[in-house]
Amino acid sequence: MPNIVAIVGRPNVGKSTLFNRLTESRDAIVDQTAGTTRDRHYGKSDWIGYEFSVIDTGGYTNDAEDIFEHEIRSQVKLAIDEASVILFVVDVVDGIHQLDEEVAHLLRQTEKPTILVVNKVDNSFRESDAMEFYGLGLGEFFTISSINGGGTGELLDHLVTFFEKPDEDAVEREIPRFTFVGRPNVGKSSLINTLLGEERNIVTDIAGTTRDSIETLYNKFGFDFFLVDTAGLRKKTKVHENIEFYSVLRSVRAIESCDVGFLVLDATQGIESQDLNIFHLLEKNRKGVVIIVNKWDLIEKDTMTTKIFEKQILERIAPFTDVPIIFTSALTKQRVLKAMEEGIAVFERRKKRVSTSKLNEELLPILKDNPPPSTKGKYIKIKYISQVPKHFPLFTIYANLPQYIKEPYKRYVENKLRKMYDFKGVPVTIFFRGRDD
Ligand code: GDP
Ligand code: GDP
Repeated sequence: MPNIVAIVGRPNVGKSTLFNRLTESRDAIVDQTAGTTRDRHYGKSDWIGYEFSVIDTGGYTNDAEDIFEHEIRSQVKLAIDEASVILFVVDVVDGIHQLDEEVAHLLRQTEKPTILVVNKVDNSFRESDAMEFYGLGLGEFFTISSINGGGTGELLDHLVTFFEKPDEDAVEREIPRFTFVGRPNVGKSSLINTLLGEERNIVTDIAGTTRDSIETLYNKFGFDFFLVDTAGLRKKTKVHENIEFYSVLRSVRAIESCDVGFLVLDATQGIESQDLNIFHLLEKNRKGVVIIVNKWDLIEKDTMTTKIFEKQILERIAPFTDVPIIFTSALTKQRVLKAMEEGIAVFERRKKRVSTSKLNEELLPILKDNPPPSTKGKYIKIKYISQVPKHFPLFTIYANLPQYIKEPYKRYVENKLRKMYDFKGVPVTIFFRGRDD
């Protein structure tokens, strides 16, 4: 199960400051994929080995100045439905506000783990002011200062007790999950139906494993995997007004539990910002990616059409452009199996281990010949490379002055790794470390 933490509360209590503290300070550890654009409302974090997603619900209101009570209420309800833990933030300076009472009322009715967080407790005087929040009827609370970080360690220690134990091998033991994501009507269900329709080896249908996605065990090329249709992303939006927030929550859940995401585009519409958001979700979560340009039958083609499409997509998804793009038609079945084959190849590449001896015999000499530019008169020497055993490709590169190594060099190393060992469709993470770390 994915660990999703939703931060709720009325405007100006410090939700986004807390979000930034939880996600940005962790950047060095989690957000290492070169050039990943930062989403202001969704981020990854980790604490003592537990990885989790953080969502700042406040980012999804239309106008923070003029927020409607019912909007907050519907966000809290969504958070209750979709998140694993809710952080309810209140402001010690303002004291208990009418809207806080409203939110507390909703939270008292749910079984979902909820943590009351009293923010802006910047000094010990404010500790005693915080006492009044017992009045919300939510029991114990944590006092923090999102601005200076005070109390956040204790909060995180408590937060992770609600998560399942991290288990690095879990992904490998399970049957791989291939999830079809994309905007409504691009053809996700049709593609899956095309696959299932022609294939006799359907073992079982498990509907509603996560409530709105449908997964089917599928066997092809001697290989078992789940096909996951996220059609539910579309159907339930009618119920809620916070469509963007809702679809982000749903996509996050679908994506966090997959191994390879098939980002399905509609050839007649091209790639749009919503598609890019999903692409970055996959990238940030270090999932395998295959881009499917579906409804290819509807496009008038000449010899250049594919190239032009490809170029447009690559420009939008840069810098992570080492991604397979397959042009399909669910209608005529064109290349649908090819897309599956590519998914399996991506899955295998994501598990790939390059031996330490190979890295140090093949890649190290190249990096030694092309070291990072010297900074402040100091020469940076690359010493040693190893791949960390993880369920996604993670490389550690040891150097004498890792703090001086900049983004462009990291990208250079990533490109070399990709050229030499083929990680097409797979986000690659690189750390630079000093010898003694
Ligand atoms: P949001 O609307 O709930 O996301 O609130 P913001 O994170 O935008 O914060 C609202 C204001 O409170 C900003 O001016 C922050 O700088 C301030 N703020 C946030 N956290 C703290 C804190 O721990 N202490 C103090 N003194 N101010 C804070
Ligand atoms: P989803 O919402 O992404 O699951 O999309 P659907 O699979 O429900 O498809 C939406 C519409 O597009 C349906 O009317 C499909 O028949 C149509 N469609 C799906 N794939 C193709 C395709 O490859 N070619 C054409 N011409 N139509 C398609």
